[in-house]
Order: sequence, then structure tokens, then C-alpha cells
Amino acid sequence: MAGLRQTIIRSGLESLYFTGAHIALRSFVEGVGAILTLHHVRPPRPGRFQPNRLLEVTPRFLTRVVKGLRRSGVDLISLDEMHRRMTEGDFSRRFVCLTFDDGYRDTLQWAYPVLKEAEVPFAVYVPTSFPDRLGELWWLALEAVIARNSRVGLVIDGRDCKFDCRTVAEKRALFDELYWWLRGRPTEAELRGVVRNLAAFYHVDIATFCSELCMSWTELAQLASDPLVTIGAHTVNHPMLAKLPKEAARSEIDLSRSVIEAALAVKPQHLSYPFGDRASSAAREFEIAAELGFKTAVTTRPGVLFAEHSQCMTALPRISLNGDFQRMRYVRVLLSGTATAMWNGFRRLDAA
Ligand SMILES: [Zn+2]
Repeated sequence: MAGLRQTIIRSGLESLYFTGAHIALRSFVEGVGAILTLHHVRPPRPGRFQPNRLLEVTPRFLTRVVKGLRRSGVDLISLDEMHRRMTEGDFSRRFVCLTFDDGYRDTLQWAYPVLKEAEVPFAVYVPTSFPDRLGELWWLALEAVIARNSRVGLVIDGRDCKFDCRTVAEKRALFDELYWWLRGRPTEAELRGVVRNLAAFYHVDIATFCSELCMSWTELAQLASDPLVTIGAHTVNHPMLAKLPKEAARSEIDLSRSVIEAALAVKPQHLSYPFGDRASSAAREFEIAAELGFKTAVTTRPGVLFAEHSQCMTALPRISLNGDFQRMRYVRVLLSGTATAMWNGFRRLDAA
């Protein structure tokens, strides 16, 4: 299923590129700028079962993107500068912001040297439980359970279910099924409960993903000391906020800002909603972020920025640099706004 979806997206992006439609439609859809979403930046790894690979691009691809954007005359700017241009209506030049979610160590190890060399500002959104080493990167625990076993059992809707996952194809299919079933749980507590049980039963230590993959506070301080870097909030525990009671959602955001301020002596002015899709963040969360005084907050709803977004600065869309689509021509099409305009039915604002 995922394979088919990728093929459709790829052929859509290809046809927009090769027909030149992205250029023809540009003046209608391109907007004033865009915010890019990245997660991992690291060299390709061996192994055919990498269901989370869409969350990583290579340092080489990042270098190409930066060079390509610079060549096309786009300004690469910080979130503060984006906020200034949006609120002051300064749209004389198109701009792009680079944002990295989750605070992975490879941001420091691989992305930072590329961006430092090119003097590109960027933001890192940190869920504070990750450097506190209490975070649960549950999607990686799920991947590990499926990777290390040929049969996985769990209780779904009160029934004992067993799944074969011997082959790579079976593992991919099972990951997709369980991942989206988990994302569909009505509460964050249920999702976490299922994954904790699964990890305990199959001897996967969820805590290790944090220490292996995420920056420590010391490493974050190193990044934060560079004026090119903006440290943003990304909650404490990385929950799907919309599935928490309102007060809990509010304190996830508020507390994470205080923890970052205490640890790094900078008060985050910018927020990224974990997962960032419609089921994770919507009108209620956008309002909380505005009430708490964040200058901007970003979703993962796909789209470029229009002048109208200055009216909803805590509900900004982004464009994901997807590991399955590491071609500069896809980035050009995405930044032209054509593909996302089609996905969004040519609607510009989506802040509900
Ligand atoms: Zn995240």
C-alpha cells in the first residue's frame, strides 16, 4: 500500500515537473515562502526494512538542496526573520526556513557542518524528554520489535492477534498496519500502553533510542550557542496533543518551554506540534500556542506560506523533505506550491 502511494506521489511530482505545470501554475500557488521539515540527516544505512526511512535524507542531498535554493535566489532565513517578514508584509524576496524536528544527534553531526559552512540559519525543535533521556520514540520501538521477530502478537480490540513477519515485505506491511492503528488510538495513553507492553514482551528497551539517537543537553547547548541556530519547543513527551485533555496539552507545551529555558538559557519563541497532522494538532492547539505567546508554530500539514498566513502564525504548514523523494526536482515542484495546492484543493489557509 505504502509502495503504491509513493509511486502515485512520485509520478505526480514527475508529471508536474516534466509538463512544466509547476511553472505555469506558479503565480497562482507559489506563495511568499516555505518552511521545510527535516528529521534525520545521515548517510544511507544498509538493511531493507527501514519503515521510518522517509524521515531521513543524506547529507549530500541536504547540500544539494541548500545549493539549489541559493542558486534559485531564495533567501534562507531564520524563524524570527520569517516572523518579521510575515507580520510586516515584507514579501519582496521569496524565502525558505529549514527546520529539524526531535533533536537527533545527526542534526549536530551531519546537518550542522553543511549548514554552518553555507551559513544557513536553521531551527531545531526539541521534545525535552529526549535530552532528559525519558522519551519514548515509540515508532522506533515498534520497528525494532518487528525487525527482530518473525511473529508478533498483541491484543487488538480485546482480541489476541498474531502476525507473521518473516519477510521484508511482511515486516513492512505489518509496520504500516500497526503504526497507523496506533496513530488511530483515541488516547495517547492507550497508544503508549500498547507499545510499552509490546516492547517489554519482546525485550526491546525503549529508553535506548533516546540515548543512542538524540542529542544530550550538552550537545544541544553547543548548537544553541551558534547564532545560526534557533531552538524551538516540541513539547515534553512528544504526544499527539489533540488526544490529550486540554490542560495536559497546554502544560506539555508550556512546561517544555520552561525546561528548555532552564537548560539552555534561551526561551523558545517557536513551536512545532509533534506529528503535526490534523489528528495531532488543530484549532484547540493553535489557540493554546497563541495564548502562550509563541511567535510561530508549525504543523506538518503540507503547503507553502501565503501572505494570509500572517493571520494564523501558530498554524503554519510545512513541506517535508522526504527520504523517499531525494531529488532536487521534487523539491522544486514542492516549493513551487503546485503539488501542495492540488493536495489542498487550491485552498490557501487551513487553520481549523
Ligand atoms: Zn517530532
